[in-house]
Amino acid sequence: MKKKMRFATKAIHAGLDPDPATGAVMTPIYQTTTYAQARPGDHKGFEYSRSGNPTRSALEKNLAALENAHFGLAFASGLAAIDACIRLLNPGDEVISTNNLYGGTYRQFTQIHDRYGVKFHFTGMDRVDQILPLISNNTKMLWVETPTNPTMNIIDIKAFAQVAKENDLILVVDNTFSSPYLQNPLDLGAGIVMHSVTKYIGGHSDVVMGFLALNDEALHKELKFIQNSAGAVCGPMDAFLALRGIKTLHLRMQRHCENGSKVAHWLRKHDRVDNVYWPGFEDHPNHAVAKAQMKGFGGMISFSLKGDQLEEAFELVSRLQVFTLAESLGGVESLAGHPATMTHASIPKEERAKTGITDSLIRLSVGIEDADDLIEDLEQAFSALP
Ligand SMILES: *Cc1c(COP(=O)(O)O)cnc(C)c1O
Repeated sequence: MKKKMRFATKAIHAGLDPDPATGAVMTPIYQTTTYAQARPGDHKGFEYSRSGNPTRSALEKNLAALENAHFGLAFASGLAAIDACIRLLNPGDEVISTNNLYGGTYRQFTQIHDRYGVKFHFTGMDRVDQILPLISNNTKMLWVETPTNPTMNIIDIKAFAQVAKENDLILVVDNTFSSPYLQNPLDLGAGIVMHSVTKYIGGHSDVVMGFLALNDEALHKELKFIQNSAGAVCGPMDAFLALRGIKTLHLRMQRHCENGSKVAHWLRKHDRVDNVYWPGFEDHPNHAVAKAQMKGFGGMISFSLKGDQLEEAFELVSRLQVFTLAESLGGVESLAGHPATMTHASIPKEERAKTGITDSLIRLSVGIEDADDLIEDLEQAFSALP
């Protein structure tokens, strides 16, 4: 296979050779826990499926290629992948994280790892100077999520990578909202890129999975040890489903971006809507950074209502018919959510308020349906508001 392939070709071919046993073109689901050895230690590269499984290996190679990474590791969920990253640290070590963070990540940092002595600082990351006062000799890691969830702030990966390099910190970028199609953090200087495969990569809302990609060999060895020792691996059936999703990632992302743009512009003109958060707007505070580091602006949009009434937001999301009211994002189908009571309910109200998660904030994951149907759906829900 040619070495320097473009994204769409890599999505379909990278790491995926016909099955050596049968010639099967699609990677088989190796639903096995163990592998025969000819003599003790004499095997074909697989011994036990927690340590390695051929379906999972194919996925790891394929996804690593999409992030232009040397190494990839698949986990049972996005949070399991995040957990593995923090297990690189020791008690007393400190992490500086964006304060506009996926709720489950915040919960894991503050309610699990904090108990084992890792200290977390949360701050805005609109500008790189916001983190400088928080860096100490104990700081070991920077945690970035961009675009952030749910108010679509953009963090300048290159600028934070520079600070990480100067201070010998590992920069981890949660790239879930962009997918590898829209953004490749390792190319911008990040040390580790993390994905909830559950979202855009899987793309069909039928798999929960996490992924880490990186170039550093020593760090990969440590993470692979953690993956095997902590044991939060994904199963072969899920690896197969993720591989199947990835084959259309580029096509789906293109449509997510087109539909996202149409819905964002429509919302912005609506007289009941207060703020619309979408990095594609030219007056988005970090639009220039988004334009520089992303290939498109994605299908994630949040908006708030004038008057900020919780009841009105509930009414609106309950009346949607094409959009489904549900947690999660990144699937082919459009979803709507209410961050304050759903995805971000685990973040205290005062913390939420600081980051714009107001009572009427609604988050949309714009799917790949016909954009006109999505807009008409929003229209009918709005028109039924008192
Ligand atoms: C969903 C999500 C996670 C967690 O991933 P799971 O697969 O649900 O464990 C982490 N970060 C972001 C940005 C997410 O959207």
